[in-house]
Amino acid sequence: MTRIASTLEDLQLEIAKSTEKSQNFRQKVRLVAVSKRQSVEKMVRLAQQGQRDFAENQLQEALEKIPQLIDFKIKWHFIGAIQSRKCKAIAENFDWVQSVDRAKLIPKLAQARLGLKPLNVCIQLNLFNESQKAGAGPEEVFELAELIENEQNLALRGLMVLPPRQSEFTAQKRQFEEVYDFYRQLAEKYPNIDTISMGMSGDFAAAIAAGSTMVRVGTRLFGDRN
Ligand SMILES: *Cc1c(COP(=O)(O)O)cnc(C)c1O
Repeated sequence: MTRIASTLEDLQLEIAKSTEKSQNFRQKVRLVAVSKRQSVEKMVRLAQQGQRDFAENQLQEALEKIPQLIDFKIKWHFIGAIQSRKCKAIAENFDWVQSVDRAKLIPKLAQARLGLKPLNVCIQLNLFNESQKAGAGPEEVFELAELIENEQNLALRGLMVLPPRQSEFTAQKRQFEEVYDFYRQLAEKYPNIDTISMGMSGDFAAAIAAGSTMVRVGTRLFGDRN
């Protein structure tokens, strides 16, 4: 087997193990391969192994890659900063947008989805008040959720979060548990949501232990980025 194939299998096993250990939440965890600044060749190899969810954070780079993987029926996730003039192209080319963080984007994304399947939307949450990072604060999240819920062409799926980097499992898990608590409050008001996108190469096990339903893994799958 090629190296990347065994990496995918190892990662799937680790995800499954973490899911079993997460006694409170025996949910299924979806693996999204973060392919930003990775070669199409590596992406094709992963797709041949059955990987179906890929995430990009730059529109232009994604638009070059998407046609080259057309045969694999990939679900594409946008996880980068959204410029409002790019909403149309993002909504037309992606299945998920995980980084919605302000009201202005919402009608633009919805407009571009007219006549198509609803676009899956996660709100990017900035729970830890990190001013340098994107994301909406907790109160804003409720306002954004209401706006998304009112758009027929958007499907509110849940939250995406990029918490401050921690190296210890316990510290990582504590942060993710805070996110989970907030998610539960949001789910009381919007019972149809089903997604907490949290956990990356260095902390996915802690994220799953705290209730993540979707992990976004880049370097652990592909190696270093270009
Ligand atoms: C790059 C990126 C990831 C993946 O990070 P790795 O550490 O390479 O796994 C996940 N989420 C977002 C939003 C990213 O930008």
